[in-house]
Amino acid sequence: MGFLLDMRKSKVYLVGAGPGRADLITLRGAEVLKNSECIIYDRLANEELLKFARTDAEIINVPKRLGKRRYTQQEINELILEKTKSHRTVVRLKGGDSTLFARAGEELTVLAEYGIDFEIVPGVTAATAAAAFTGILLTDRNYSSQVVFVTGREAPDKENSNIDWDLLAKLKGTIVLYMAVGTIEKIVHKLTEYGMDKSTPTAAIANATLPAQQTVRAALHSIAKKCKDSKLEPPAIIVIGPAAAGDRRFDWLAKKPLFGKTIVITRDQAGNAELAAEIIQRGGNPLPFPTIELKSLTHKNSFVKALTKFSQYDWIVFTSQNGAAFFFEALEKLKKDARVFAGTKVAAIGSETAGRLSRYGIKADLVPGVFTGRQLAKKLIEADNLKDKKILLLRSDCASKELPELLKKAKAKVDDIPIYQTLTKKNKTKKLTKDIKSGLIHWLTFASPSAVKSFFEQLSKNIIKSGSTRVASIGPVTTKKLTELGIKVHAEAKEHTINGLLSAIEMSYM
Ligand code: SAH
Repeated sequence: MGFLLDMRKSKVYLVGAGPGRADLITLRGAEVLKNSECIIYDRLANEELLKFARTDAEIINVPKRLGKRRYTQQEINELILEKTKSHRTVVRLKGGDSTLFARAGEELTVLAEYGIDFEIVPGVTAATAAAAFTGILLTDRNYSSQVVFVTGREAPDKENSNIDWDLLAKLKGTIVLYMAVGTIEKIVHKLTEYGMDKSTPTAAIANATLPAQQTVRAALHSIAKKCKDSKLEPPAIIVIGPAAAGDRRFDWLAKKPLFGKTIVITRDQAGNAELAAEIIQRGGNPLPFPTIELKSLTHKNSFVKALTKFSQYDWIVFTSQNGAAFFFEALEKLKKDARVFAGTKVAAIGSETAGRLSRYGIKADLVPGVFTGRQLAKKLIEADNLKDKKILLLRSDCASKELPELLKKAKAKVDDIPIYQTLTKKNKTKKLTKDIKSGLIHWLTFASPSAVKSFFEQLSKNIIKSGSTRVASIGPVTTKKLTELGIKVHAEAKEHTINGLLSAIEMSYM
């Protein structure tokens, strides 16, 4: 009885994770993940969503097919039940929507039997996601007023089938097949046997919404072969009906310049995460290869001393987002806040650094139009008579000496304090080398000279020089480092931000 009582105080959330891309989860779904003590998730739920989880949450992966340990549905039901004994909130996270082809019935039955409270949070299902990300309209008043979602898991030659193949064959509308890559040949056979036109437009969309999204279009009778020829693999949605022909102009994602392009990102882990998100929004496929690691130096005497006389500085200068982030992290630790800036002016090297400062309530007084150290010095000299002015630079330990030298030339008193350290990060290089050699990598991107240095300490320059992989640089300082190593730069950002970097790559395809 004790157990039962406990379980009845717990709540289970069946959450639809959406079709793949992490930001397609609902706000409610993300909220529930943030507050849960236990998350039990499927193969099709994007693991990136676990970033919402509490650090103390128990996280359990329950693959039904892949992986080392396979769970049967029965075992999953029991696991959910078990976890309600030790956790107040349990999330059952599934790909797409949890009420469509997701065995929710079995899980809900168990919960209902034990009187456990639950909530179902809807998700974007694969059918509508695949439609949205290819511009295929499942309904259209001109050609389709009905849509049917059908499982392809049930073999069409099964006796006493639950699927009305004869009705489907006559449907004036759209058929959407889930889990049908393996059975498509048989399904086509069945549908045509019942009279469906062999030339009915058909489209298969694999990995919808993800960087690996792939669309194959063909007439019904040749879709199976075309999928095989194109090496289309599950998970895929198959759309049958006039909708599948659609208007190709609506196929917006596939039209993006970065679509299908694999782009290696070489910043530190946090920087890569930010860059990856932007690449995905632009339709590309980010491949993280972190070359550097950043470590705070705010525990050092030099920084602590600078902070004690902070208000004596005329200018505080940040030359990277990271510098700003480490600075405010340190303030937090020292139980101080943005009031330390009272009476000082603040300069930021670029829009990203200024943006980061503004998150903490600091509006930069000066941001040069071109985001380089040289320009920053020039603008500071124009903005203020720097003679005997005290300037504090809070930068990386390996930042270029150009900025402090120019400021000193203008007779300023400069304290150049390293606020973080850039360490080399080593990676496994075998697979990347192989992929570059086989032409699978379209771009290497570099956002700092230290990333360039670390990357080419690990990978041979000659592989890049002789291959088809192109190189993009965030700005002249990084480009200079690449050129010194004899690496050709194919795209350089006009605005020295990650957006500028990606725009430069896009421009090269225009
Ligand atoms: N509950 C899920 C469906 C689970 S069944 C939902 O609502 O989407 C698994 C099937 O979903 C796959 O075989 C495939 O047909 C489809 N599917 C899931 N994710 C997909 C994706 N990103 N692209 C194409 N199809 C997908």
